[in-house]
Amino acid sequence: MAGTDSIADLVIHGGEIVTSAARFPASIAISNGRIAAIGAPETMPPSAETLDATGLAILPGGIDVHVHFRDPGYTHKEDWASGTSAAAFGGVTTVFDMPNTIPTVATPEILAAKHAIADEKAFVDYGLYAVLGEESLDHVEALAEGGVIGFKLYMGNTFGRIPSPDTGAMLELFERVAPTGKRVSLHAETNTIMERREKRLREAGRNDPLAHLDSRPAVVAVEAVERAATLAEWTGARIHILHISSKEELRPLAEAKARGVDITGETGPHYLMLSTDDYARCKGVIRVNPPVREADCHEPLWNALKDGTIDMIATDHAPHTPEEKTRSVIWNCDCGFPGVETQMPLMLTAVAEGRMDIRDYVRASSEAPAKSFGLYPQKGAILPGADADLALFDLSEEWVIDDFKLHSLSRISPWHGRKVKGKLKHTLVRGAFVVRDGALVETMRGHGRSVHTIQRMPPAEPRNIHKTIAAVTAAQISAAVTAAKP
Ligand SMILES: [Zn+2]
Repeated sequence: MAGTDSIADLVIHGGEIVTSAARFPASIAISNGRIAAIGAPETMPPSAETLDATGLAILPGGIDVHVHFRDPGYTHKEDWASGTSAAAFGGVTTVFDMPNTIPTVATPEILAAKHAIADEKAFVDYGLYAVLGEESLDHVEALAEGGVIGFKLYMGNTFGRIPSPDTGAMLELFERVAPTGKRVSLHAETNTIMERREKRLREAGRNDPLAHLDSRPAVVAVEAVERAATLAEWTGARIHILHISSKEELRPLAEAKARGVDITGETGPHYLMLSTDDYARCKGVIRVNPPVREADCHEPLWNALKDGTIDMIATDHAPHTPEEKTRSVIWNCDCGFPGVETQMPLMLTAVAEGRMDIRDYVRASSEAPAKSFGLYPQKGAILPGADADLALFDLSEEWVIDDFKLHSLSRISPWHGRKVKGKLKHTLVRGAFVVRDGALVETMRGHGRSVHTIQRMPPAEPRNIHKTIAAVTAAQISAAVTAAKP
């Protein structure tokens, strides 16, 4: 706590703080980018500046562990400035960007070049994933040293056509990653199943939006989650299941957790709020991997999010141009849509409707992602000493999502026209206003920093009965790899 003799940079008065444990009225003092004190107004130190937050809820900024900001390589879809400003307008203060940019992030040199681009343009803090595949196998340790936030492994195809490692390669890759401590985020859809089904559907002349769902039934994801959990258990590797879309994936996820596998999972608003009922209206716009499914998945996914089986909310923010999303043949529509700016308003609307307690939501949007990726409590918490990453919302203000008023370069999403309750007023990243009174602070371009420097992830070890044999295998593999080098 700051003593009364020190002068804070900013004191926020009159707001209601919301954490995973409680909501309570309090003032917050901020010094040097960190929360210096929380308490009654009269206990706050003198400050250079004050903010009146009367009527506003103060949430820890969202941590979105799954975005595609497309830069470098696809800057007609998005870039680091537009993507991170969209995040800031959505109350999201930290994002983890996926490696399917050009070139694919697979070496320390490519990683360093991408860090330089993000450092120059980012309005919010960020982490960078490297791909985990045959092309990065020999760079795993160097990428970890070079500051990746985690690794991304594509078990199924996606935008950028990154090849999927087979099961043998996956085991070897997990063995290499485990000692680095980094978490492996998995696109858990099994390629061989869906490629075969897509071929059959195309042969049958199916080009309609629902054909995309038919090519990727939930078993595609269930089989992948189960297999990934088995390999993670064997090697000790920490894993994270991206975009959980179906009720059927919950069983292998819960079972793996019960066995002690270090596995976390995310879902997104589109899997909780959209369904097959929206395909006719949205057509190619709703095409995403994995697909939006039947409405009977909603209740089990909400329950899993509330009870922590699904740890967190992430958006898979995946912008494309309107032309790329509205082609007549579904197989030609690019997959994904923007989401980083609308996640918090959509979820806070669900909170207002009684779908979820706001404290559970804060756990899912901030605390759990910070814990899962070794950033807690510097990120994901409103506590003295934590980074002052704050999202201030008027929870009672209603508005209508308009794709043309969002800040992603992409001007097309399935959320267009949807009424929401909860309007962002201010976003602070390490104590600095990035959005103030609903407007972007342009001078904060380049304020964002990579959070890998504060990440704490100790080496992971193989578990229980598998420990010895897996350790031997890992040692043999690294010896063989070293021997094979020219
Ligand atoms: Zn993605």
